[in-house]
Amino acid sequence: MKSKSPITRRAFLQTGTTALAGATLLSSGSCSQQSKETPPQRSEFVQRTLGRTGLRLPVVSMGACYGIDLVRSALDNGIVYIHTSSDYSERNHERLLGRVFQDRPRDSFVIGTSPDLPYTFRGSGPSEDLGRDVEPGLILESIEGSLERLKLDYVDIYYLGSMGRKETLLHEPYIDAYAKLKRDGKTRFVGITTHENEPEVIRAAANSGFWDVVLTSYNFRQSHREEMDAAIQYAADRGLGFVGMKTQAGVYWDRKRTRKINMTAALKWALQNENIHTVVPAFSSFEEMEEDIEVMKDLTMTPEETRDLALGDELGYSGHYCQQCGGCLSQCPERVDIPTLMRCHMYAYGHRQPRKARDTLGSWTSADIPCSNCARCPVSCALGFDVQSRALEIARVLDVPDDFIV
Ligand code: SF4
Ligand code: SF4
Repeated sequence: MKSKSPITRRAFLQTGTTALAGATLLSSGSCSQQSKETPPQRSEFVQRTLGRTGLRLPVVSMGACYGIDLVRSALDNGIVYIHTSSDYSERNHERLLGRVFQDRPRDSFVIGTSPDLPYTFRGSGPSEDLGRDVEPGLILESIEGSLERLKLDYVDIYYLGSMGRKETLLHEPYIDAYAKLKRDGKTRFVGITTHENEPEVIRAAANSGFWDVVLTSYNFRQSHREEMDAAIQYAADRGLGFVGMKTQAGVYWDRKRTRKINMTAALKWALQNENIHTVVPAFSSFEEMEEDIEVMKDLTMTPEETRDLALGDELGYSGHYCQQCGGCLSQCPERVDIPTLMRCHMYAYGHRQPRKARDTLGSWTSADIPCSNCARCPVSCALGFDVQSRALEIARVLDVPDDFIV
């Protein structure tokens, strides 16, 4: 439900008018302040404390957003935490944020990022290496590049990204590297991100006693919601902070994108769990930002919003959100990492962020997706996805010349 005093378009426009289609390059400047207090907050917004970090944040934060004026307006209108990664838009997202940050006091925002590590590291999919095949030195080097691009001396949260197995986040050389970054003042807190096998990963993070924050998929379409809630409760009781992502659940109900999910309802749904301390939707327009900022004023779900979220099940839509359940993995004779391809399909065709799909696949080319060689795909997806046609659509995204991708 909209507040009686919504943030007006004019207020947004005072700080700029155009959401840029792509990322831009950096200019000079430096981080001017080093205060490590929680940033000042706007009292009309619901706020929560991010676990043992003690950071007090508005419940809505910001994920990947490629319009510099949009980022500036978001910060001017109450957003405090921004999530990025050094692999977003081939590092250009961090450069764009650096341009924004250079004009702002360091204690007015909170930033989280992660290193750009090779695809094989991810600790997910069919890989046998358990995600332990990356030299920790790469993590130590990677943060230096992030700090340079962001024009900062430290980040607030440095994440180890895409954890799909507990073995990866418990790997001692990685823990040692992150502990060193904390000791050296390069990051205030350390976190992990997870899109798959989340309950196991979350419990392992809690038991480690080392990680401070978990950035996890969390939405109303997840088939393992009860397991998720139990794991999040377990970890929150042990002091972990939680940032929710994929709250938009693929954005559209249908494959042809004619029926959009009620985004306000989806955000509110995620925030009904008080252990989800903030969420990081991606804004692609001022309208979306305005809608999401309004959510921070009142989390009460209306009966209409609750009904809206049941629509997909009633109409039998499988949507764009892949559960990352892994049920398909053993069915493909080529051992294709189908969950990752389906996640990328959601980025490109649900969120309309083909760049993010390409960032996720790193150095993959369309030749790395062998699906055009199969006369008939034997894979039966738990949600009924036509895996082969979606995989081929992603292969086409990889073939698009870089200049045409946003
Ligand atoms: S493609 Fe289907 S079976 Fe495979 S991980 Fe996604 S939802 Fe599960
Ligand atoms: S079409 Fe199906 S079986 Fe063939 S490679 Fe792709 S996912 Fe595997």
